[in-house]
Amino acid sequence: MDEKFKYVFEAHSPIKIKNIPWSFCKYCGLVFLNNQATKWCIKMGCHNSYHPQYKQTINKLTKSK
Ligand SMILES: [Zn+2]
Repeated sequence: MDEKFKYVFEAHSPIKIKNIPWSFCKYCGLVFLNNQATKWCIKMGCHNSYHPQYKQTINKLTKSK
């Protein structure tokens, strides 16, 4: 098994900037949009792209109807 990057949960640190309706994480830069894929990324923390289910989940969630 190739495990170059191990997924570790690290909570996001959302910050809010005036005049911008969305928060974003100051560590990974994730923009907190209101969609299923983003919600999953929020739940999984800053290292969500290292999560073993990342590609599969994002593909599933971003495929709209
Ligand atoms: Zn983050």
